[in-house]
Amino acid sequence: MPILNCAAEMQEEVAGWRRHLHQTPELNFDVFQTAGFVTEKLKAFGCDEVVTGLGKTGVVGIIRGRKGDGPTIGLRADMDALPIDEITGKPWASTVRGKMHACGHDGHTAMLLGAAKYLAETRNFAGTVAVIFQPAEEGGGGGNEMVKDGMMERFDIEKVFGMHNMPGLPVGQFAIRPGPIMAATAAFTITVKGRGGHAAMPHGTIDPIVIASQLVGALQTVASRSTDPVEAVVVSVTKFHAGDAYNVISESAEIAGTVRTLKKQIAKKAEERIRALCEGLGLAFGATVAVEYSSGYPVTFNHPEEMMFASDIAANVAGDGQVHRAIEPIMGSEDFSYMLEARPGAFIFIGNGDTAGLHNPAYDFNDEAIPHGMSYWVKLAETALAA
Ligand SMILES: [Zn+2]
Ligand SMILES: [Zn+2]
Repeated sequence: MPILNCAAEMQEEVAGWRRHLHQTPELNFDVFQTAGFVTEKLKAFGCDEVVTGLGKTGVVGIIRGRKGDGPTIGLRADMDALPIDEITGKPWASTVRGKMHACGHDGHTAMLLGAAKYLAETRNFAGTVAVIFQPAEEGGGGGNEMVKDGMMERFDIEKVFGMHNMPGLPVGQFAIRPGPIMAATAAFTITVKGRGGHAAMPHGTIDPIVIASQLVGALQTVASRSTDPVEAVVVSVTKFHAGDAYNVISESAEIAGTVRTLKKQIAKKAEERIRALCEGLGLAFGATVAVEYSSGYPVTFNHPEEMMFASDIAANVAGDGQVHRAIEPIMGSEDFSYMLEARPGAFIFIGNGDTAGLHNPAYDFNDEAIPHGMSYWVKLAETALAA
């Protein structure tokens, strides 16, 4: 089956919603206007239930099929934007300085609204579709908040599916893989406390800059010498702050960075190695080295059966040659991971064509992708809940 006729017919309407959302970006959990827009649309479509305020500002619409009883599946979109100044110059560019939809969540929300409209009109399935609109994907863990709020139990959701656009992948194509598709994150801040003093008399000091520099080098060995080379791990030091004067050895230095992994045991090992290197180097140089370590989003893990199902749906919509079923994992992260920890499901990428990259000020969601994304959602719901 190619793109649904109705999805092609609805493209202009859905693109209108998308551009409206693009003009009014909101951050984190503060997506009040966006959630209001979503709520109003879902009610107008005639959803059986529209629940707001889940996970602070998330919205769920419930659509029951007309073919009888069946399970409930969740389809999820994200609503939040990024703190970036837009430079696209498009007529629908952000009207809010310092905020823009640079990750395409405007497109994700619009496509799922389009699918909800169609599904609420036709109801050609047995069971229930829960359309999930979450806040705070970009760092706030809005997906986790919705799960913690009891969303899965409240609506009896059995499986969940998510979708994200991918610049560089042609429009009309999809990409997915079984198992880990996006990485787990962790953040660390390391404070090296030495002893300050005169730069011309270094022997009377414990120089935290020299120690922190050694540490930056040593941290490279977490990936290169402590982890099996066929496993994925990223350790990036992204901050280094120390010193104020050319003739003073400072008292302390601070470095910080991020760790990305695809497996729990690799994540654990990386943390252990980072702590051990800090402790060991502190001991070696007579400094105190304090480590603050915090885990972020978990691995986004595609459950094998649901991944196969999702890729078959994509192939049905796009054509067999248009679906990449075994892409390499991406070391970025995604908080749909929390929903996939709570329920089986799959996360898929949809082509955004030759656009600027995600989180780039020149990025714009490609409205040509709308019929493909909508068709995927509709086909997925109707097939998963076939009578
Ligand atoms: Zn993003
Ligand atoms: Zn995103």
